[in-house]
Amino acid sequence: MSRPARVTHASTRAVVLDLVRAAGMISRVGLVNATGLTGGTISTVVRGLIDEGLVAETGHAESTGGKRRVMLQLNQFARYAVGVHLDDARTTYVLTNLGGAVVARISRAAATGDVVGRVTREVDALIDSVGVERGRILGLGLVSARPSAHHELGKSLEQVTGLPVVLDHDATAAAIGEHWSGGVGATSTFAALYMGSGIGAGVVLGGTTYRGSNGHIGEIGHACLDIDGPLCWCGARGCLEVLAGPAAVVEQARADRGLARAAGLAGGRTRASTPVSADFAAISRVARQGDARAVALLERSARYVAAAARTLANLLDLEVLVLTGPSFATAGSTYLPVLRAELDAAFIARDVHPISVRLSPSAASASAIGAAAIVLQSELVPRNQGLRLPDDLAAGEPPVFQQLVR
Ligand SMILES: [Zn+2]
Repeated sequence: MSRPARVTHASTRAVVLDLVRAAGMISRVGLVNATGLTGGTISTVVRGLIDEGLVAETGHAESTGGKRRVMLQLNQFARYAVGVHLDDARTTYVLTNLGGAVVARISRAAATGDVVGRVTREVDALIDSVGVERGRILGLGLVSARPSAHHELGKSLEQVTGLPVVLDHDATAAAIGEHWSGGVGATSTFAALYMGSGIGAGVVLGGTTYRGSNGHIGEIGHACLDIDGPLCWCGARGCLEVLAGPAAVVEQARADRGLARAAGLAGGRTRASTPVSADFAAISRVARQGDARAVALLERSARYVAAAARTLANLLDLEVLVLTGPSFATAGSTYLPVLRAELDAAFIARDVHPISVRLSPSAASASAIGAAAIVLQSELVPRNQGLRLPDDLAAGEPPVFQQLVR
């Protein structure tokens, strides 16, 4: 195998570190096989990572007749990352370790007024709750539905907290969180369908996060499902969101006095200040308790969401669709079977390959977890964000080094 030329020390270190992370446990020989680098180079890089405290030696592999091999694994608690998700209803904070596991999580009502001060205090409280040294925190990922609106906030937080800040889209972050945590295959083509107050999608193509030309990817909430439908704020008519998104469901529930009362939807002057996703959660709650009117509204919404999801699946030839975000956290059990039925019946490629549709196990905090994962990725795989180890690496093939450093 030819070796890639002009590989910098930093990217070699990043590649080796990411292989150790993704493999769980791997020997130096395994790293040589996976990267195509020499034993000497691997030895030097691994020694550096052990000196930095990022990688630890851990026991020996079972002998297969030859010499027993020392295994390496990530030192999960060597570094941490903060993820912050700004939603219209709540701000969710997570602290993850180097492996991406959540070690602390808090959720607060959305900040108004002095947002910088409030977020800074809550990040401090998050870090203090587990007593992690500041020097071990790599940075802060800040995600929202409109990252371009948060540049100033990001800059201020960087100054006040002293942590590097990266901004991204919440649906993209949710997709990265699923991918990083190993919830989907390393080289999968998949989408995270995100539903909070609005509906969006994060997309990972063949294992690589796709952000579009300027980060405005996945606006599936503005797919047109009725060209003569009601006007949407985006300028078009009959968008998924205006017909059947959480705000539309809340409006429809308000029109039914009995349902509005059963769900405790605020009326009058308090109405405008209640976040859509909070009202949507209240409707989902009474649906779970068996309120037939609420169930009918959610099932109608689910049919629209399913039609848009089918279009997304057909456009991208998806292998996996993960439902995530706070509104799927509360109503996912109603939407999931409707989406599955739609794709079983009409996904174009269904005879060639299946599409797996499932609920995220951490739908409420997926974007915050993804925000922290983006920080970890920028440290661990800086030259090719979003790429993980292929599933078959543990078997020692095929070499992926050239892909990783391309
Ligand atoms: Zn629209």
